Amino acid sequence: MEWIGHRRTTFQGELLNPQPGVSAYYNRKGPFFPGLEDQTGLMEDQNGQMVEVHQAPNLTSPSRSSPHSQGSESGERYSRKVFVGGLPPDIDEDEITASFRRFGPLVVDWPHKAESKSYFPPKGYAFLLFQDESSVQQLIDACIQDEDKLYLCVSSPTIKDKPVQIRPWRLSDADFVLDASMPLDPRKTVFVGGVPRPLKAIELAMIMDRLYGGVCYAGIDTDPELKYPKGAGRVAFSNQQSYIAAISARFVQLQHGDIDKRVEVKPYVLDDQMCDECQGQRCGGKFAPFFCANVTCLQYYCEHCWATIHSRPGREFHKPLVKEGADRPRALPFRWC
Ligand SMILES: [Zn+2]
Ligand SMILES: [Zn+2]
Repeated sequence: MEWIGHRRTTFQGELLNPQPGVSAYYNRKGPFFPGLEDQTGLMEDQNGQMVEVHQAPNLTSPSRSSPHSQGSESGERYSRKVFVGGLPPDIDEDEITASFRRFGPLVVDWPHKAESKSYFPPKGYAFLLFQDESSVQQLIDACIQDEDKLYLCVSSPTIKDKPVQIRPWRLSDADFVLDASMPLDPRKTVFVGGVPRPLKAIELAMIMDRLYGGVCYAGIDTDPELKYPKGAGRVAFSNQQSYIAAISARFVQLQHGDIDKRVEVKPYVLDDQMCDECQGQRCGGKFAPFFCANVTCLQYYCEHCWATIHSRPGREFHKPLVKEGADRPRALPFRWC
């Protein structure tokens, strides 16, 4: 794609050396873009569709994947979680583990693995969860590259040396700044749910910019532990019209390469905003629990002001958008072997 080359030449410097304002935005610790959203608990099946898994989001502290923290100090460049697809149908968990053990300690996982009690990944793909990121780099080095895809040969009891696809997640693909000159406004930011896993931030930015214009930033939400995409993203616009156009559409068709998927778009709801009506005066200074996504409102409200504003004619049917589900800690679900 033309714009991928464009990114390399034009945008890389911006990513590595964002302007002061952008840098503050990246490094901000707090509820803005914490990367924790309600669309956790989704895993991708073979077609990149999201399926629900019964797993609470695992989270410790708000964290953002940031081009600054990623890689620079630790040398980490990849998620420790790696997708492997096209496995021989008769390969079991132990054989998969054995096939990749030479790169370092790992655990093999796939959606619904615990419930299904199956020894075989049912759809021919699995995730490799390495203990160390350096294992991922060694794995990549051992792969054969075919165009932009990576392959490694794996054997099962009946199939010898089958090339399987290895799809690592590069940490820097979680953020993309399209227009570093614009301040990033959380109130002009949308949440995109059900993002197919291989989609990179640059791809999300370009798709949304093509559809609505004015994109200045896109981010892919990743889980803090493995830094692997969770199937959701955020897009910040530079102007109100683009933002409203995006949220008014409610759904967007993400088309890129093999990907073609309808995903949901909604305002990005922050949990540390004051009521826009009373600035906390009528609610004891607490953060506003409601956001009205109707384009005639687009405001945060306390309970009192929500009721007052929405008793007016024509606004009775507005529905509050609430930031869903607090994040719960997850017990460590596996042991390294
Ligand atoms: Zn209020
Ligand atoms: Zn409203």
